[in-house]
Amino acid sequence: MEVLYVVTYVIIIFSIFFWLYKLRYSKWKKDFPLTFQEYVSTNPTVKTGNGIKCIFCGSKSLKNWGIDGPESKKRSVTCNHCSSRLYRVED
Ligand SMILES: [Zn+2]
Repeated sequence: MEVLYVVTYVIIIFSIFFWLYKLRYSKWKKDFPLTFQEYVSTNPTVKTGNGIKCIFCGSKSLKNWGIDGPESKKRSVTCNHCSSRLYRVED
């Protein structure tokens, strides 16, 4: 009987972490709706000879942050100049 309690407990804890992860991930997608490919294809002028620029202010100084820390492959790119949320990189 005790095993059943432990298993139930583990499942509940796992579900909570999974739910928190999903919540965080969907918030990230809501905050950064465009992927890099979508950002470039909907705004072809952002592609310059030496990098990507902000569609709102034209600055090429972009902040590229990993959502789970510096090494994260999921990244959010915002403009350093006007703070606009530009695009996300999923891998
Ligand atoms: Zn900008």
